[in-house]
Amino acid sequence: MKEIILCKYGEIVLKGANRGQFESALVKDMKYRLQSFGSFSVRNVQSTMTIEPLDDFCDLDGAFEAACRVFGISGVVRAAVAEKNMESILETVKSYIPQFLVGKKTFKVEAKRSDKLFPLSSPEISKLAGAAVLSACPRMRVNVHDPEITVRVEVRDRAAYVHAGQFKGAGGLPVGTNGKGLLLLSGGIDSPVAGWMMAKRGVRLEALYFESMPYTSEQARQKVLDLAALVARWSGSMQLHIISLTDIQEKLVKACDEEYFTLLLRRYMMELANRVAEKFSCEALITGESLGQVASQTMQALAVTNMMARYPVFRPLIGMDKDEIVQISRRIDTFETSILPFEDCCTVFTPRHPKTRPVPARVEEQEAKLPFAELCDAAMETLQTFYIKAKF
Ligand code: ATP
Ligand code: MG
Repeated sequence: MKEIILCKYGEIVLKGANRGQFESALVKDMKYRLQSFGSFSVRNVQSTMTIEPLDDFCDLDGAFEAACRVFGISGVVRAAVAEKNMESILETVKSYIPQFLVGKKTFKVEAKRSDKLFPLSSPEISKLAGAAVLSACPRMRVNVHDPEITVRVEVRDRAAYVHAGQFKGAGGLPVGTNGKGLLLLSGGIDSPVAGWMMAKRGVRLEALYFESMPYTSEQARQKVLDLAALVARWSGSMQLHIISLTDIQEKLVKACDEEYFTLLLRRYMMELANRVAEKFSCEALITGESLGQVASQTMQALAVTNMMARYPVFRPLIGMDKDEIVQISRRIDTFETSILPFEDCCTVFTPRHPKTRPVPARVEEQEAKLPFAELCDAAMETLQTFYIKAKF
């Protein structure tokens, strides 16, 4: 019996005229991602992507997990292939389906026939397939209204597919269909999640990390490189830019009132992010800010940083609780890396009493104590760019 992977497209099915283009782009992306799992034939058939192993050496589990990380695909399921006749379909149901019924009591069968030349109707196929399940697992009961598991039979152009696994899938829109954004990536829990959420909406990512050596360590940098690589498993390969804030931070500490220190630093970050976005043709900035989470994320503090931005700033976590963010970070596999205990530049020279309701004019007064543009020019000179190649 041959097993394949079926992928259902998500929101792109609403895309009208461009839909075909999106589907072929996804097929191409999938082929690329599956390279390290063996030889597969990836095809787009009647708005479903089929992933078929071409020999016995393919890692179907690995391919399945990789397919579940492709944005634009909302449902991924493993299926057994049957010939397009009832005998073969029923044989396949009997041999393939029982493994999915372990621990379950009730089921129903849903049949779909996109090949209208197939001699039986969908209800007829369902009925026969249901009987086949019962003959293989006599303790099962049919429950069409609230079954614990649904067995599906799809009769398509080349073959029939039988499956009962749970649909997984990343959802969202194919990466690259919604422009390119610059993710301000720190080593924390939030910003990788923010990047993932925007990639899910089709945004291609570049990342920008500010470090402050020797106050921040080589490990802190490695941690951010690792986080970028983990996000890239979903979003695809990306560039990661690193800028040193050491000089700016040392000068800020000497020249400005302590309570404004974090706010001023965040304004420098915004300005530098503008410049990097400009240089690398990004169309938006992305941060992991969440309203009220820390002093620099009150509405007034966000306003003071936001003033510096010359691009739209996407803050996909703005209305989320920490628990919700942690949940996503576990799901996307960044959590364990995010919680490694290395200093971020924001935690160096943290004020004891940061301003939580800053007044823009006061912030600007403080900022004027240093040559803002000049310091940004100098910081841009420290820019280094790394290519983060995705390991799917
Ligand atoms: P995170 O968990 O992402 O570190 P946080 O809760 O620690 O966020 P802040 O440190 O206030 O919050 O940072 C808010 C946002 O600013 C981050 O989510 C990130 O987008 C950006 N940011 C903070 N520090 C850095 C940094 N060192 N390099 C790049 N971006 C940063
Ligand atoms: Mg942080």
